[in-house]
Amino acid sequence: MKDLDSILAHQREKFREVFSYSVTELQKRIDEIKPKDVQEDIFTEFPQDSSGKKWQIAVLNMLENDISKDIYLKFQEILKDRKSYHCNGCATCCNLACSEYSPEELKKRAENGDNFAKQFLSIFIPYSSKEEARKIYPEYIELLEKNKENQVYFYHCPKLTADNRCSDYENRPQICQDFPDNPLTLLPESCGFCKWKEKSENMTLLLHAMIEIVEYYKQKIPL
Ligand code: SF4
Ligand code: SF4
Repeated sequence: MKDLDSILAHQREKFREVFSYSVTELQKRIDEIKPKDVQEDIFTEFPQDSSGKKWQIAVLNMLENDISKDIYLKFQEILKDRKSYHCNGCATCCNLACSEYSPEELKKRAENGDNFAKQFLSIFIPYSSKEEARKIYPEYIELLEKNKENQVYFYHCPKLTADNRCSDYENRPQICQDFPDNPLTLLPESCGFCKWKEKSENMTLLLHAMIEIVEYYKQKIPL
């Protein structure tokens, strides 16, 4: 069993790396379209109709129309590639689902139209204790204990049979069909999507970093 702590630490380290790389690359693209008569940076308050203002408008267009579109398309590619991998029925995700929300909070969210909460509550029920959940995946519980500041609630699905089959497979909700829907999800080694995670994790980190940076520029460029 791989050490989940080191997997998470590696993921964080990699994110810092790609974040700093992405800032540099984005700044290069911004500078490439900078008018020669502008000395200030992109966050300066420029007068209307000045070269600086036109540059800011061009940068915002680039962020919204080119870069954000590229990010979206890359995410779609990753999700498309997921179809080449398959669940092998290890049942860990049916046996242990974690949420930052208690059953009562999930109920409220579902009543307020949160579709994920609605689906979650249609299958999962809470474990009677954390120790029960620990029996399923001890390393994961330990990792959460070390890294999560907020409370985490543990759930399992009673539709799982004693031989780890889904007793309502044809009607399982979308969240079951889509799991894992993100290569950054921590997966047990038994999961059939580990190879997909391995292959797509770096690109997903890069895309997450780009989203944060693009949002930052969009908020800070004065118009
Ligand atoms: S409904 Fe089936 S697939 Fe979904 S969590 Fe329950 S047992 Fe697993
Ligand atoms: S953890 Fe992965 S392989 Fe196991 S049941 Fe869930 S999706 Fe399938």
